[in-house]
Amino acid sequence: MMQIQEKDLLSKLKTNFGYDSFRLQQQEIIENILAKKDTLVIMPTGGGKSICYQLPALFFEGITLVISPLIALMKDQVDSLKANGISAAYFNSSQTPEEHQKVFDGVADKTVRLLYVAPESLSLLQHVLNQNYISCIAVDEAHCISAWGHDFRPSYKQLAFLKKSLPETPIVALTATADKATQEDILQQLAIPNATKYVSSFNRENIALEVRPANDRIKQIIRFIKGKPKEAGIIYCLSRKTTEQLAKKLKDNNINAKSYHAGLSFEERSKTQEDFIKDDVDVICATIAFGMGIDKSNVRWVIHYNMPKNIEGYYQEIGRSGRDGLEAHALLFHSYADVIQLRQFIANTTNKDVQEAKLDRMKQFAEATVCRRKILLSYFGELIEENCGNCDVCKNPPKFFDGTLIAQKALSAIYRLEGKEAMGTVIDVLRGAQNATILEKGYQQIKTYGVGKDISWRDWQHYIIQLINQGFCQIAFHLHNALQLTEFSNKILFNGEKVFLTTPVEIEKIKKETEVKSKTKKKVVKDTLFERLRKLRYRIAQEEDIAAYLVFNDATLRELENERPQTEEEFLAISGVGQRKLEVYGGEFMEEIKTFLNEKKKSRKDTTLETFNLYKEGFTIDEIADKRGLKPQTIFSHLSKLYLEGKDVSLDEFISADILNLVRNAKKVLKNETALKPYFEFLGEKVPYEQIRIGLTILQKKR
Ligand code: ADP
Ligand code: ZN
Repeated sequence: MMQIQEKDLLSKLKTNFGYDSFRLQQQEIIENILAKKDTLVIMPTGGGKSICYQLPALFFEGITLVISPLIALMKDQVDSLKANGISAAYFNSSQTPEEHQKVFDGVADKTVRLLYVAPESLSLLQHVLNQNYISCIAVDEAHCISAWGHDFRPSYKQLAFLKKSLPETPIVALTATADKATQEDILQQLAIPNATKYVSSFNRENIALEVRPANDRIKQIIRFIKGKPKEAGIIYCLSRKTTEQLAKKLKDNNINAKSYHAGLSFEERSKTQEDFIKDDVDVICATIAFGMGIDKSNVRWVIHYNMPKNIEGYYQEIGRSGRDGLEAHALLFHSYADVIQLRQFIANTTNKDVQEAKLDRMKQFAEATVCRRKILLSYFGELIEENCGNCDVCKNPPKFFDGTLIAQKALSAIYRLEGKEAMGTVIDVLRGAQNATILEKGYQQIKTYGVGKDISWRDWQHYIIQLINQGFCQIAFHLHNALQLTEFSNKILFNGEKVFLTTPVEIEKIKKETEVKSKTKKKVVKDTLFERLRKLRYRIAQEEDIAAYLVFNDATLRELENERPQTEEEFLAISGVGQRKLEVYGGEFMEEIKTFLNEKKKSRKDTTLETFNLYKEGFTIDEIADKRGLKPQTIFSHLSKLYLEGKDVSLDEFISADILNLVRNAKKVLKNETALKPYFEFLGEKVPYEQIRIGLTILQKKR
């Protein structure tokens, strides 16, 4: 093969994918593949794995075969390539013999660059599986081949023969699973022991992390979504029933939501998935069955209604948001009841110990009092030095206080109850509740009964969880989750050791904050350029019957909004715009931008004219500002503009001759500086900005 240079790679990256530069490691990986070396790529979801094999495919003589486990994902990937003007096809059991023949033809005349195939369909491709036709093999979701992984698929087992039949063809294995054992297993199973490994950072900085207590979670969720109109999001729930109930509640609240779980028919599931991908549905309430086949880049948030079983699952699920690199939000609801339920599930499984340890790590994450991202990344063996600044702990660090007395009360209650009662009853005793259990068992006689009346139920729960985490008491899961003392308890009860606890996050406070925000900034979908472009994108996607983000992703729309390109050259400079997309979509998008700008210009003109009319009617600046709901400064700026345009506005009446003189002198010294601040400082911070601006306007006109 000819020598391929960096500039060739960059030029194809721009022409065919619309990007100006590679992300970390992409270029090295691509060069390694082009050198025909076996390659292992470990990159988080959204990291940009696809380009790693799609770009080399454009340089190879034969086709690149892509093994992918999910039929749903294939069509999407092929659509996406086609949208970029790259010839691609897929081959799976859902197609007719005619369609299969078309694929064979494409392979034979080498017109297809990339061919996606499900592992179970490989055997039907036998006659083209040789080096004449195939230049590279990419194995997507490669962890599916390993029994160590969390998603083992027997059909992947047969991939081992690939290296035997095509020894000269480079194999690229790609996955988002970091685990060391799985990595080694992938290499062994695929018979590529010497593959070059690329393991990239798992840090997805654009996803804000947040954990909240689960009290009132439905209300919290509704409020959360209402603050993000038209944004796509996924809510993960533990049970099918919850997904349905939640979707219904959301719909009752005018939220465009649907549920998704394995109990629905194949058709229903496909339809829901389609609707989501095409932006016809905003919110999906799903069990973990949802998402594997989803490659939607504009998912803006993920909520975990229930606690996930382990950090791998959690990380993968939140990773489905913000793939376009724009801000995204992951919100986890933490409830102790969930933890107990998950423990019960686990109790009946074969590898109980491993799963319990994993659940414990998940719990530690949820209860963290240090930067959550540090915990998350350290789980994957990645250490970061700085706190992330984009998790709730970083944004709102917990406050510790001396909680020794609280701890003593709780531990003595547990002691008096002889380690027989679960958290609920312990709290009831502390708070002096008078319910049936308490009275039947005679717990009102206990010495600690009612000693914790002053602390709310929810706060007690928060404190006791912390005591458990610090090892001062424990849950006996085999004894109906009874709370019991530990060896450490004595330190508090008898040896005078101090305990530090954190104050619970005030849900009320969170509520108020969001309410205040939503009052000052009314969250309705505004008529912004972004919204216009989003609507246009939606219309085009409908017409072409493809996912909306395949036209342009959110990041590209944002850039279009900011840069407002009006020529082909400017349009092509936008990240995400390649040659084909410029040709096919450029015109319509530029047209929309032009229309929008003209409308704004017109309304800007209208707004100064309205000020002018009121001014002529004799209203004062403050009155005009009041009438129009604008700031006086804005009115001044309108008048200045009118004044410069030569309209009949006497700015002189707003400034004294003395001050005008001061400004004039300053202007000489400052050599016609245009910024206001230097004048303000030069004049000893005594002349208000408004006066300076008026002075300068008058002087400008006079010149
Ligand atoms: P993965 O397969 O690793 O989950 P993708 O390949 O789907 O991730 O890429 C995620 C997103 O990042 C896509 O929207 C893709 O177009 C975008 N992307 C990939 N590489 C680049 C790049 N070099 N510059 C800008 N965006 C990129
Ligand atoms: Zn942090």
